[in-house]
Amino acid sequence: MMNSREDIRNIAIIAHVDHGKTTLVDQLLKQSGIFRENEHVEERAMDSNDIERERGITILAKNTAIDYKGTRINILDTPGHADFGGEVERIMKMVDGVILVVDAYEGTMPQTRFVLKKALEQNLKPLVVLNKIDKETARPEEVVDEVLELFIELDANDEQLEFPVAYASAVNGTASLDAENQDENMQSIYDMIVEHIPAPVDNSDEPLQFQIALLDYNDYVGRIGIGRVFRGEIKVGQHVSLMKKDGSIKNFRVTKLFGFFGLSRLEIESAKAGDLIAVSGMEDINVGETVTPIDHQEALPVLHIDEPTLQMTF
Ligand code: GDP
Repeated sequence: MMNSREDIRNIAIIAHVDHGKTTLVDQLLKQSGIFRENEHVEERAMDSNDIERERGITILAKNTAIDYKGTRINILDTPGHADFGGEVERIMKMVDGVILVVDAYEGTMPQTRFVLKKALEQNLKPLVVLNKIDKETARPEEVVDEVLELFIELDANDEQLEFPVAYASAVNGTASLDAENQDENMQSIYDMIVEHIPAPVDNSDEPLQFQIALLDYNDYVGRIGIGRVFRGEIKVGQHVSLMKKDGSIKNFRVTKLFGFFGLSRLEIESAKAGDLIAVSGMEDINVGETVTPIDHQEALPVLHIDEPTLQMTF
């Protein structure tokens, strides 16, 4: 029997610009009570490492980690624009499902199609949130039909076609599974995530495979690789191999690992299969490369990149 990390869900949030992605994630974070916890965490971070906080290691995070009733929900933001196609694909490789946000008045738009196509191609499980339901002009029934039509046009498989729908007003912090009545909070969205998005496979007793999907940079720790642990476990101090894209191999010692907490990153000691993390200590790490144990050098298929100039810009 396959074990799974029931304590984690990894999802990407996708939408046409202005349909309310940012507002929705903010509300989900806020309602999960993380803002309070986060203040606490930030204090600790400051005690232990002023410099890191000052240099702003927290501000570039593209992952919002939300704790909902003991389940960690990692929500990765995705650019909607076609110029960022490679980045979108890499993000899709790190997650097990997506939340598609669609404006309940505007309906599906070009970027809705673009990002949904990428998600469906990766066989990801989609959830749909029809947002801005508070607008007088909202036309939820029609827009659900439009969304379904788009799924069909994009060749969604049978399972993907059975997407659950929540109706929401991100700006008011309300949601429900029924277009007519809004609940006073967004519980139905958290529940939908936990229920419908598959938990990551737990193969943490197998040899490590950690793949870099995004790069970041920080004055204090240098180059940072962000990605998913697909297999095994990674620890600070561990000697590992970096399987380079050109086929060469570099060994190094893991100096720092970062986990995501709310909107921040904090140092952690170890991470295992299913976790999204950031790592520093390897100056020539690149997108698509795999970190493995020295005695089990097995790379994952190299991720495709089509905008190399963007690597240092987020
Ligand atoms: P993003 O580009 O998808 O991240 O969209 P934002 O979250 O920045 O939202 C775009 C605009 O829509 C902002 O002015 C928001 O205040 C507004 N907005 C977001 N959610 C709602 C909603 O549920 N109802 C209404 N009426 N406006 C919303």
